[in-house]
Amino acid sequence: MTAFDVGVVGLGAMGSMTALELARRGKRVVGFDRFRPPHELGSSHGKSRIIREAYFEHPQYVPFVKRAYQLWAQLERESGRTLLIPTGGLMIGPPDGVLVPGARRSAEEHGLEYEVLSAGEVRRRFPAFTPADHEVGLLEPRAGILLPESCIESALALAGEAGATLCFDEPVIGWNGAESISVTTARGSYEVGRLIVAAGAWMAGGLVPTPLPLAVARQTLFWFDPVGRHSMVEPGEMPIFLWEWAEGRYFYGFPDLGDGVKVAIHHEGEPTTPDSVRRETDAEEAERLRAIMAPRTPALNGTLRSAVVCLYTNTPDGDFLIDRSPDDRRVILASPCSGHGFKFAPAIAEVLADLALDREPALDVSRFTLARFPAQSRGIIRP
Ligand SMILES: Cc1cc2nc3c(=O)[nH]c(=O)nc-3n(C[C@H](O)[C@H](O)[C@H](O)COP(=O)(O)OP(=O)(O)OC[C@H]3O[C@@H](n4cnc5c(N)ncnc54)[C@H](O)[C@@H]3O)c2cc1C
Repeated sequence: MTAFDVGVVGLGAMGSMTALELARRGKRVVGFDRFRPPHELGSSHGKSRIIREAYFEHPQYVPFVKRAYQLWAQLERESGRTLLIPTGGLMIGPPDGVLVPGARRSAEEHGLEYEVLSAGEVRRRFPAFTPADHEVGLLEPRAGILLPESCIESALALAGEAGATLCFDEPVIGWNGAESISVTTARGSYEVGRLIVAAGAWMAGGLVPTPLPLAVARQTLFWFDPVGRHSMVEPGEMPIFLWEWAEGRYFYGFPDLGDGVKVAIHHEGEPTTPDSVRRETDAEEAERLRAIMAPRTPALNGTLRSAVVCLYTNTPDGDFLIDRSPDDRRVILASPCSGHGFKFAPAIAEVLADLALDREPALDVSRFTLARFPAQSRGIIRP
C-alpha cells in the first residue's frame, strides 16, 4: 500500500484535469480509470465540444467559463497543442424563448460582447442557416470548439510529467473510510487522504451511495457531408450554433473540421446505463434529426458520414453536482455533466482540488451543492 494525498476516480474530462491540477500543486495524487482515456465509452468523445460564454442556462456559469478560457489557454501553451478553435457562436430561436433571452441575460449581467441579428441578417451573414422570420440570432464572438480527446490526452500527459500516478484499465470497486481512505481497485488497494469521484456516467450506478437521482441518457452525434459551397461550413465562416427550434428543445452543430459537419439534438435521449447502452445508431434516429435540420440548416443536411453514441448524466435540474459526500466529508463527488460540462473542466478541476485540500474555492459553487435539493428528494440510494 502506498499513501497518497488525494485519489481521483475517473480520468475523463474532469478527473484528468483534476489530477493535473493537484500534481501542479505538488500533491501526491493517484488517479484511476476503468479504461484508458480518452475513450469512446463515456461522455468526452466525439471530436468536438462547444465552449460558449453568454450562458443561457444561468449567469452564474459565466465566471466558470471565463476562468476556463484562461486555463485552456494555459493547457495549450504547456502541451504545445491546439485545443480550442475560435469560431464565434450563434444562438438562434424566438426572441421570447429560453435560449436567446437566457444568453442575452448572461451577456448583459457580465458585460460580454454580443450582437442580436434579425433572421434576414443571419441568413445573409451565415448562409448555412435559414431561420424563419420570427426567429433571431444572438452572436457571441468568443465561442468556439474544444477538441476533447486532445484536451484529455494533454492533461494526462502533463499530470504524469508533474508526478501523478495514473492507473489505467483499473476500475475502482469501492473504498472504506477510517483514518485514511482505503481505495480498492481490481488490482490492489491504495491509501489516500482525500478522494475525488468523477466517474462520469458511472456516478449513477452502484459505485457511490448516490445522493441524488442521476439519470443517464443515450445521446447520438451525427456527421453529415455539407451541401453546396464548402466555404459556407468552414470554421472561418460558420460559427458553432445552438438552435431552439421548439420551446425548450434544441439542436446544435459545428462547422466542418475535416470529418463533415457534426449535428446533434441536445437532451431527449433515451434512458440507459453505461454498461447496457446500445452503442449502434439506426437510420430512424438520423432521420429524426434530418427532419429538424431540413428547413433550418439545409446546407448541413447531406449524406450521413458517421455517428456515435455518447452519454449525458443528468441531475434533476440540469445543474452540476459538485459537493462533499454526506457520508464522508473527505470524499468529493463531481458530476458536472447534464450535457454541458466539458467547457468548464479545468475550472472545475481547480474547485475540486480546493475542496480536496480544504480550501475555499475562488468560484461560487453554491449552485452545484446538494443543499439545493431538500433532503427527502435526494433519494439516497445505497449500493
Ligand atoms: C453528445 C455529447 C455532447 C456534448 N456536448 C458538449 C458541449 O458541446 N460542450 C460542453 O461543455 N459539454 C458537452 N457535453 C458534456 C461533457 O462532455 C461532459 O459534461 C463531460 O465530458 C463529463 O466529463 P466527466 O469527466 O464527468 O466524464 P467522463 O469524461 O466520461 O469521465 C468519467 C471517467 O470515469 C471512468 N470510470 C467510471 N467508473 C469508474 C470506476 N469505477 N473506476 C475507475 N474509473 C471509472 C470512466 O472510464 C471515464 O473515463 C457533451 C456530452 C455528450 C455526451
